[in-house]
Amino acid sequence: MKTLIRSVTLIITALIFPHSWANDQENIALSYLKRFGYSSCNDTPASTVKCSESFNEMLRDLQRYFGLNITGVLDAPTRSIINTPRCSMVDKPNPSLIHRLATTKWPRLSLTYRLDSYAHHTEITQAKQIEIIQEAFNEWSKHTPLKFKMVCDTCSADIVMQFVEGDHGDGHPFDEKTLAHAFPPNDGRIHFDLDDTWTESFDSPSNNEINLFLLAVHEIGHALGLEHTRNGESIMYPTYRLKKRSEVLAAVDQTEIQALYDSKTVQETFGSAKYIGETKNSVRHGYGQLVFENGNKYKGEWKNNQRDGYGVQINTDGKKYSGEWKNHLRNGHGACTWANGNKYVGEWKNDTLNGRGVHTWANGDKYDGEWKDGKRNGYGIQINVDGNVTNPIIPKELKDNHLIFTREDHKAWTIVPFNIY
Ligand SMILES: [Zn+2]
Ligand SMILES: [Zn+2]
Repeated sequence: MKTLIRSVTLIITALIFPHSWANDQENIALSYLKRFGYSSCNDTPASTVKCSESFNEMLRDLQRYFGLNITGVLDAPTRSIINTPRCSMVDKPNPSLIHRLATTKWPRLSLTYRLDSYAHHTEITQAKQIEIIQEAFNEWSKHTPLKFKMVCDTCSADIVMQFVEGDHGDGHPFDEKTLAHAFPPNDGRIHFDLDDTWTESFDSPSNNEINLFLLAVHEIGHALGLEHTRNGESIMYPTYRLKKRSEVLAAVDQTEIQALYDSKTVQETFGSAKYIGETKNSVRHGYGQLVFENGNKYKGEWKNNQRDGYGVQINTDGKKYSGEWKNHLRNGHGACTWANGNKYVGEWKNDTLNGRGVHTWANGDKYDGEWKDGKRNGYGIQINVDGNVTNPIIPKELKDNHLIFTREDHKAWTIVPFNIY
């Protein structure tokens, strides 16, 4: 409605004062060009160097960016672009090489978000707005390993969405032409203009009703590190345009987001080994499952093609390990059970028992103590089911059925001359 009143006013003004109307249009165009990245001059009053650049040159840049005829004059198609509602992030028609090489992205793939406020001028209920925003996030996670989780109103979140109006304190006030904006990673702020009318309809031809889903997908794109593009197919095009729900992300958008965060899960086969999971730079990285050629299975975290992080391995011989891994080896805290009924819970290093741990044999015998390279070594106690305690000195303290060893009070457990594992 505001746009309509404005258009009518402009037409009337143009009829009565043709000269001042042209000036007005030029001023509107000039402020648009400066605001949205078509001016390389810095308007700071403190600047002593007078910056001059051609209005027509800036217009040419704008016309080139939006795929118009490059006339260098303020013609009707150019005015139409300038009057189309848009995102208020800049367009950067001539990015520097440094800028093109620099990428901003989140350092992790699981991100949280919250909604601080909701649209007012809308038929969309709050519950539906939440759903639409979630679907908008899903568009980006469909094609990447990114995961998004909504958190409570008061929880801290990576991405915070708000409906705000006018000058809302971040130096980027909204006006009747701007719809929304979002800051690049790792800022996470996404603002929608509270004064606009939002709809869930995909067939409202009017620019006075803005589809919330499409705008949200666009702004989340910025929040993930994408910038505006001159590619008219892309959701990252600066001006608002209706798109079909099913075609929201163009192939170019999928390529761009995957350039930042890699593609979603892949299925690959090495010999007869099969991997289903996340990759980065074409190696296993993230979460995934590998079935080795011998049939052993690992499901868990990967780093640079190696088991790293938390994971569970089940071997065809019945051995099962669940715990921490490093550089493809069992390392950290973990529990292992063997087909014969033996069990170990404790510390691992270099793929074997190292550090403190409890080993229980299938017959009930138990050793609780220190290990070195798979052997009982250091301080420990062996308690057998027949009642034999083979450690000559019983630890003094017994707390919550947990043996506490005190070095000063105990002699070293003699090295058992065989490898257990
Ligand atoms: Zn934008
Ligand atoms: Zn803002």
